[in-house]
Amino acid sequence: MANPANNSWTRRTPDRPRRRDIVITALLGLVVLFVLLASGTLDPSAWIAASLAFAALAFIYFLTAVTSVAPAQAAQSTVAPRPSEAESATAMLEKIVVPVLLIGPGGRIERANPAARAFLALGAEGGLLSTSLRQPRVLEAVSAALRGEPGSIVEYASIAPIESHVRAFVEPIRMPVAGPMPWRAMLVLADETSSKRAERMRADFLANASHELRTPLASLSGFIDTLRGPARDDEEARDRFLGIMREQTDRMRRLIDDLLSLSRVEMNEHMPPAGEADLCAIVRDVTDSLKPMAAVRSITLDLSITGDSALITGDRDQIYEVVENLIENAIKYSPDGARVHVTALGGCPRDDAEHPADRIAPESARLVLAGPPFDARQRYGVLRVRDHGGGIERRYLPRLSERFFRVDGQKSGPAAGTGLGLAIVKHIITRHRGGFAVESAPGSGSVFSVFLPQPALRPAQTVQAEPVTAGVATE
Ligand code: ADP
Repeated sequence: MANPANNSWTRRTPDRPRRRDIVITALLGLVVLFVLLASGTLDPSAWIAASLAFAALAFIYFLTAVTSVAPAQAAQSTVAPRPSEAESATAMLEKIVVPVLLIGPGGRIERANPAARAFLALGAEGGLLSTSLRQPRVLEAVSAALRGEPGSIVEYASIAPIESHVRAFVEPIRMPVAGPMPWRAMLVLADETSSKRAERMRADFLANASHELRTPLASLSGFIDTLRGPARDDEEARDRFLGIMREQTDRMRRLIDDLLSLSRVEMNEHMPPAGEADLCAIVRDVTDSLKPMAAVRSITLDLSITGDSALITGDRDQIYEVVENLIENAIKYSPDGARVHVTALGGCPRDDAEHPADRIAPESARLVLAGPPFDARQRYGVLRVRDHGGGIERRYLPRLSERFFRVDGQKSGPAAGTGLGLAIVKHIITRHRGGFAVESAPGSGSVFSVFLPQPALRPAQTVQAEPVTAGVATE
């Protein structure tokens, strides 16, 4: 803030110097008068000369007075008052992004920096630590520090409302206060949730990968032994075994691809994507690429796209993966010669996006596997994939997006699934702040729906085109 004294160093405002100037000027005037009287001349030229001499003397006096006062004033006005040590420490604590608290006698919060207030959701009044932090081991460590005992480090985890892992550092501090309780406890809370999650994901990945790869690897090594031993000269058995080995290696590759994809998605799930992608274009591309797979089993893909495009806020590659997983599943779990209906549309309100208006069967079960908070103004781009396969029993629906979950005894064609596809879909949709729902009835098939938030409509996009049904027959 500008200090008004800063730019007024040439002004001589204090009263005392001004009074002194007036007295000195008056004295100078008297000296001049005295000289005139003493010389006995009062002619005009002597008056003019005397007045000029008086003016020059007064001017010289003013100059010297101003320059002598100026440095003192400048020094006074440019140096801000020095903060005390306590004020500097407080200012520093306020800026630290790690939660730091000072706990006083009785476990009362005496000081808490903004990070601590946000972390523990403290009100304006700190109150008791035990009401904001229900961690007995941390409270015990704080009590010990308040008795002047050595500090300690306590780790704790909580699950609700969100999973968090914290390392609490507790240290006693002796305050320069009189009385029986000079000790305070300093509490620093280090949030280690992100690193713990990354650590667990790495461990999960290794555990899952080794567990899931063990079976196909064991089978491969069994076939290799057979081919080198009893089946060495059996040409027919050799071809059959090599075919199985090919399937097993394909399965291992799919597993590794899916596990890597799941890890990648989980890592950045908390960061919503910023780009835009056209859901309709993606659906067209995926359908084209899966035509050969459908054709092998004489399955028809019916594509129904409403409007030319449905822009969504999202990452194109991840949305491609979602669409591919859902259409691939519909093909895998349909009988040969069946039809799969793929619908894509934009501008859907939340309720319509979540479930199609018509049920696939009166007894069908519906479940939302992931859903964003309700927002009446938000419009969604929607993808629905309807198959006429065996359907899924109601009791299995909540488990569909669990990793490695597979419905027992389900036929899925030659390419056995990894049980990771729907888990990947759910994580991608959650990252996009979208929704994922399923409706199914055993014997009548299933509908998997995903809906993704659309950016605010621009004027050119507000006109809804008529539905266009593009039948893609791939028999
Ligand atoms: P997978 O690779 O096994 O297909 P997913 O995660 O995609 O893994 O699916 C999990 C399980 O859900 C599948 O194993 C299957 O039992 C069931 N499932 C998924 N999609 C369908 C579908 N369209 N119809 C019937 N069952 C399905």
